[in-house]
Amino acid sequence: MQTADEYDLVVLGSGAAGLAAALAGREHGLSTLILEKSAKLGGGTTNSYGLLWFGRNHLAADAGYSDSREETLEYMRFLAGGEAITANFDAFVDRSPDALRFFESCGVPFRIVRGVRDHYFGVAPGAKEEGRSLEVDLVSGYDLGQWRDRVRMSSVQPCYITAEEQIKWGGVNRAAQWDSELVRTRQDADMRGKGVGLVCQLLKCLLARGVQIETSCVADQLLREGDRVTGIIAGDRRILARQGVLLATGGYESNDALVRAYEGLPDWMSQVPTSVTGDGLILGMEAGGAVHTLRNNMQLFLGFGIPVEEGQEPEFHLAGIVELCSPHTMVVNAAGARFADEAYFQGIIPSLRHFDVLQHAYPNLPCFLIFDQQYASRYSFAGQPAGQVPQWVARADDLPSLAAKLGIEPDGLSTTASRFNAHVRTGADPDFRRGELTWRLAHDGDMPAGLNQSLGTIEQPPFYGIELRPSGASSAGLLTNADAQVLSSRGQPIKGLYATGNTAARTEMGAGYQAGYTLASNLTFGYLAARHMAGQQAR
Ligand SMILES: Cc1cc2nc3c(=O)[nH]c(=O)nc-3n(C[C@H](O)[C@H](O)[C@H](O)COP(=O)(O)OP(=O)(O)OC[C@H]3O[C@@H](n4cnc5c(N)ncnc54)[C@H](O)[C@@H]3O)c2cc1C
Repeated sequence: MQTADEYDLVVLGSGAAGLAAALAGREHGLSTLILEKSAKLGGGTTNSYGLLWFGRNHLAADAGYSDSREETLEYMRFLAGGEAITANFDAFVDRSPDALRFFESCGVPFRIVRGVRDHYFGVAPGAKEEGRSLEVDLVSGYDLGQWRDRVRMSSVQPCYITAEEQIKWGGVNRAAQWDSELVRTRQDADMRGKGVGLVCQLLKCLLARGVQIETSCVADQLLREGDRVTGIIAGDRRILARQGVLLATGGYESNDALVRAYEGLPDWMSQVPTSVTGDGLILGMEAGGAVHTLRNNMQLFLGFGIPVEEGQEPEFHLAGIVELCSPHTMVVNAAGARFADEAYFQGIIPSLRHFDVLQHAYPNLPCFLIFDQQYASRYSFAGQPAGQVPQWVARADDLPSLAAKLGIEPDGLSTTASRFNAHVRTGADPDFRRGELTWRLAHDGDMPAGLNQSLGTIEQPPFYGIELRPSGASSAGLLTNADAQVLSSRGQPIKGLYATGNTAARTEMGAGYQAGYTLASNLTFGYLAARHMAGQQAR
């Protein structure tokens, strides 16, 4: 074993959680090392839309939006569904605005994403139409010098346009309407936004401060002295951490055994890189950390795998907030029956988890996305230009033939489509009230103005279909306190051990999900952990 390197803070993982904690640590005077298992930085964060949700943030206040602690609290309480832990919930409510200012002062430029409302606007108390969803400004990869090619670029998330532009230009299902000239200019300048942009903005700040970063380095074990974590072992290296080791290795979505243990749904597919295998969870458990599971985690989506060449990373396309929100689509189970409002991904989740006692099976899994040529001609499928449905998607000239190809009950599918089409012609969906909730990132249906834009008949051949699979953010993580310290099952902090991001249980949020919560939480608890390590308690 080599002689030990020594730092104040050793961060494992380089998604938004790890990079934010490292930047906060460095800014609080801690000598900091980031170790990333993969050859590239960024983790699952690079797949994300990069929305950051901050209640009563200063950017909104400066722009004239009204918000208050009470309204933020009301909304977050609604979302938490009784599953949040009060101290962590309070820390998120009260300290996230400080964290936002802090990272801004470090040099990360944020701005309001206009056109994005809170998920439960019009339903939950305290929800706002605009002002709480933020994103970072675009940053050029060339600003990163030799690190430019060492950031993971997502194959599923176009990052050269901002989330605001994407929404303004017709939504996530309308790639054909994007400003192609601007897109080309941005690509030439290697401009990066969304989750990749957040990673690059944080990285730029870290590089400017000379923070040490190593890739392709896996921490195998935590070093302990008595009841304190004192560093890590990676291969034949010992690296000491005087103030703390911070676990930010993401969740465990690419670890089948942990998914089986904590998710409990069949046919799960990971939406994050293959390196996200629950390492932090395992290291934390080995050090005596308690695991906490959200029983009703609403951060669950439907999507499908995109075929890739052998040896390439699997690609998961999140259809739940793209195709499913768009007209001329529906989701059916193997009996050919619809079972939820397709346009609102949270609405689908309880139906996916439903277990039929007499069938002794999940009646709504497997399930299938069905669409017709009207959708194919006008909207993007799997991020392709309108009109291009890849050959690996099943198709047929009539619905019973499509059903037979997919393993759906043919009569069931035909009956469901007839009923759905009849309802669409009246402009409503009395069965599941599809599209009545207004949050969505896909817009611009083709119904007359004023009518429900997520509705459209499914009647023009050819008909297309693909099996959907559940995916999401991990329901379980290490139990932490408001300073992001990992807690034992007796509720005692394990000295020198911290966890943030998806490695930590989402006890600050509880069951509900609001786009932007996780990235905002990553920044907030990275900031609080760094302050704690530097000797300033969260409260
Ligand atoms: C399509 C999509 C859209 C999303 N959109 C949003 C959004 O708009 N807003 C939002 O808030 N959230 C969004 N999310 C969720 C959000 O992206 C994640 O919750 C967040 O990025 C998790 O960050 P993290 O740093 O915890 O993990 P990750 O970003 O996954 O990073 C973990 C890193 O740890 C590394 N690692 C693993 N094991 C080790 C080890 N032993 N040693 C060292 N390194 C290790 C991994 O390689 C990885 O790089 C989205 C997710 C998806 C898939």
